[in-house]
Amino acid sequence: MEFYKPKRSIEVVFLHCSASDSPAHDNVETMRKWHLARKWHDVGYHYFIRKDGLIETGRDIEKIPAAQLGYNQGSIAICLHGLKPELFTEQQFNSLISLCRQINEAYENQIIFRGHCEVSNKACPVFDYRTVLGLDHFGEMTYASNPHFKESPARILHGTLKLTSFGAEVLVLQQRLNQTLQTALAEDGIFGQQTKSAVMAFQEKRSITVDGVVGPATWQQLLST
Ligand SMILES: [Zn+2]
Repeated sequence: MEFYKPKRSIEVVFLHCSASDSPAHDNVETMRKWHLARKWHDVGYHYFIRKDGLIETGRDIEKIPAAQLGYNQGSIAICLHGLKPELFTEQQFNSLISLCRQINEAYENQIIFRGHCEVSNKACPVFDYRTVLGLDHFGEMTYASNPHFKESPARILHGTLKLTSFGAEVLVLQQRLNQTLQTALAEDGIFGQQTKSAVMAFQEKRSITVDGVVGPATWQQLLST
């Protein structure tokens, strides 16, 4: 499998699982049939990784995927066949790592890797992709090997965050709040009651609407501190 950069610009790679452990579904053709049945013009993912580690190509890499509602633009979508976390294979993970390393190198580390679950309420993928790929909090593959790693908030999607939100953005939020308010919030990427209280304190301090929800106005204030 040789990865080549498409002409369209790419910022993020999204990871998925097929939500099936059936050997009969362990191929990109089945996935393509399912997606065509939904009236899509092709399979939604660019790559499908079988249990034996074989990487099959799906949708043309030059085409935007149909995989993460609202977040398809600028992305590459990879799907691993599987449903139960313990049934994913080492061959699959090795193939995933080698594919993602190729992509990361092609983009000279200027790309992040995320799970579908970070932009939806779906439990997808079910395996621990952060550990498998050695991702840092920002979804970069470079953290462990790059001593010059710096926080790069520009690469974080500044979506609206509220109670029960989770993921890399929440972590950035907590770090910013701790810096600005001198608080000691747990930097765990989970938007709980304490994070909400800190957001409200921050909003009050900056004279913006105190609602505990981090929207564009609050992000702007947070990032300008
Ligand atoms: Zn998914």
